[in-house]
Amino acid sequence: MNKRIYLSSPTMHDGEMRFVQEAFDTNWVAPLGKNVDGFEEDMQRYLGGDVYVAALSAGTAAIHLGLIILGVKRDDEVIASSLTFAASVNPITYLGAKPVLVDSEEDTWNMDPKALRKALEEHPQAKAVVAVNLYGVPAKLQEIQEICREKGIPLLEDAAESLGSLYHGEKTGRFGDIGILSFNGNKIITTSGGGMLVSKNEDVVKKARFLSTQAREPARHYEHKEIGFNYRMSNIVAGIGRGQMQYLDEHVRLKRQIRRQYEEAFRDLPEVSLNPHEEGAEPNEWLTCMLIRPDSDVKPLQIMEALERLNIETRPIWKPMHLQPVYRDADFIQVKDGMSVAEDIFNRGLCLPSDIKNTKEDMELIIRTVRGVFGK
Ligand SMILES: *Cc1c(COP(=O)(O)O)cnc(C)c1O
Repeated sequence: MNKRIYLSSPTMHDGEMRFVQEAFDTNWVAPLGKNVDGFEEDMQRYLGGDVYVAALSAGTAAIHLGLIILGVKRDDEVIASSLTFAASVNPITYLGAKPVLVDSEEDTWNMDPKALRKALEEHPQAKAVVAVNLYGVPAKLQEIQEICREKGIPLLEDAAESLGSLYHGEKTGRFGDIGILSFNGNKIITTSGGGMLVSKNEDVVKKARFLSTQAREPARHYEHKEIGFNYRMSNIVAGIGRGQMQYLDEHVRLKRQIRRQYEEAFRDLPEVSLNPHEEGAEPNEWLTCMLIRPDSDVKPLQIMEALERLNIETRPIWKPMHLQPVYRDADFIQVKDGMSVAEDIFNRGLCLPSDIKNTKEDMELIIRTVRGVFGK
């Protein structure tokens, strides 16, 4: 059997261990410490300096705290993209609030601004909007921002998959009242696990730090006026993050190279398209995904099986949240008649191996195999 070819696995360099070793040497094996501060400074600088960030134990934790800070409470409604990973939506449920799930649009696979408008008309009391940049492709962020402003509802931008993507020249993660990032194992940079909350409002980020460290009031004894969480990033994990930050640009460059290789390789296959983005958007190309035309005889499963036989990892498109048993009671808003855009993409799409350690030979094998399924 040939070696495993991954969808998107961690890529480590020399720098990470240096920061981790320093944490050991100084015995800062704790939440808080120099690496946490350093990682936050690096990210703040990367995102443009005029934002503040709080390093947390996970992207999911960042969404959870973000929703609390935006004032979401029990029985409130929160509008969210349906086509996403469950972690975008589950924190709504943690709070006893109810997700109102919104369909995607074909142009970016992200939240359809028209469906968002409809959702806000039908649910005018909703407390927040969670919009995702799926697979690194920016949503129509300006349009979504404008709708949220007009309706006076805050926006949480789930940029877990899109660190390094630009939208009209501006980095994603900066578009919401709150943004969140993830450093889970398969993301564009990883700390093994971790996340960040981002905001242009310093008070918001201070509040996130406070809530993430058990909501301890500034008193000598342990005084608590609010319920807190143990969500702060550890100093060991942050050391990996500091090392990875030095390679973020390179990771994005290599991901884009993979995307270009697939584009060229499938150019003569009319049944195949890749996950689309708008003009003005510069995705980080975290995962390259393909969509197969409905009239094709080839189904995503055939491609996945052909690659799996060669020990090559693929992944289905995220199964939309409105089709998940746990969210069967949630309201779902679509503007298209018939099958939703999200379900259609789920049925006809798949994620291609997008690991930046793939060699030229790996890519050739993947491409040859996929083309073979189409009889080319
Ligand atoms: C990975 C991911 C998250 C969650 O981040 P974790 O760090 O794994 O908790 C949230 N939303 C999306 C869209 C993700 O892909």
